[in-house]
Amino acid sequence: MPRLHHSVLAGLGVCLFLAGAAARAQCVGAAAGGCAGQRSRAAGEARTLAVNTALGGLTAGVLRVAHGGRFGGAFVRGAAGGALVYAGKRTVVQHFAGAGLFGRQVASVGSSISYNAGEGRPALGRIALPVGPVRLYVTPRDAVKVRARVDVATLVAIAYVAAQPGARFDAGASLSAGAPVFLRYARPADVGWEGVQVAGVIQLRRAPSDRQAGVVLSEDVRSYLGNVAAHERVHVLQYDQSFLLWSAPAEDGMLEPTRAGRAVHRWVDLGLNVPVWAALNETFAFQSRPWEREAYFLSRSTPEEIGSRPDGR
Ligand SMILES: [Zn+2]
Repeated sequence: MPRLHHSVLAGLGVCLFLAGAAARAQCVGAAAGGCAGQRSRAAGEARTLAVNTALGGLTAGVLRVAHGGRFGGAFVRGAAGGALVYAGKRTVVQHFAGAGLFGRQVASVGSSISYNAGEGRPALGRIALPVGPVRLYVTPRDAVKVRARVDVATLVAIAYVAAQPGARFDAGASLSAGAPVFLRYARPADVGWEGVQVAGVIQLRRAPSDRQAGVVLSEDVRSYLGNVAAHERVHVLQYDQSFLLWSAPAEDGMLEPTRAGRAVHRWVDLGLNVPVWAALNETFAFQSRPWEREAYFLSRSTPEEIGSRPDGR
């Protein structure tokens, strides 16, 4: 498939060029040390943008070729969708109310554009918008303009987390994050993590003493908890991205050809990306997981910084 090879190489070239251009970004008027810091930050942002752009572009291009179409046009449109995913990830790590909700929808529009490019649909032909365990599929040109499907994996994750000891659903945090958020009142040793995300469901650890009436957390602790939450919000967007880019086409291919499959798919997304994520987490050591590096980089934290609470609780 020489044409595909050339197109893939050209696509990668575009992404590397983007990364290089952004990495060379000037920082004017800063002291030398600050300038180096800004440059390395800019290089990291460029790398993150390039990776997300490449994922969207390459997925769209390869899918389009699998459907008998041309790689090039789909790559460009898919890459544009990937750039929007980066913008969404940049947004969800901000600390204003609703940053998670807004950024998640931006990123979902981005991944939808990439998916549409792969399927040969118009860029906004079908947009998926995640709302808790439900995904709304908006198709402006169809007679039925909105259809809803339940993500089974998210539903199972919600049921599982809700049943854990010390778990409490946080409606306000969920609305702001654009994803179900559960607080887990437990000691670090009892859960082994400060925050965790599975199938778009976030769990954040709280100290058991936080439940007592009148507890006031220090500025340090509140900032720490905010950074943990921002980190987990990036993982939610990674979940959406992996679903829309890879799981959705696979589920279409599995379910759409048969009548029984279509009947199920009318209402249900399976979330086949969840077992894939589980396998990837088994395969890669924590420190070398690219998705962890992305989440730490974007939320401006390190495993040490959000590994234990400043007040030791
Ligand atoms: Zn993480």
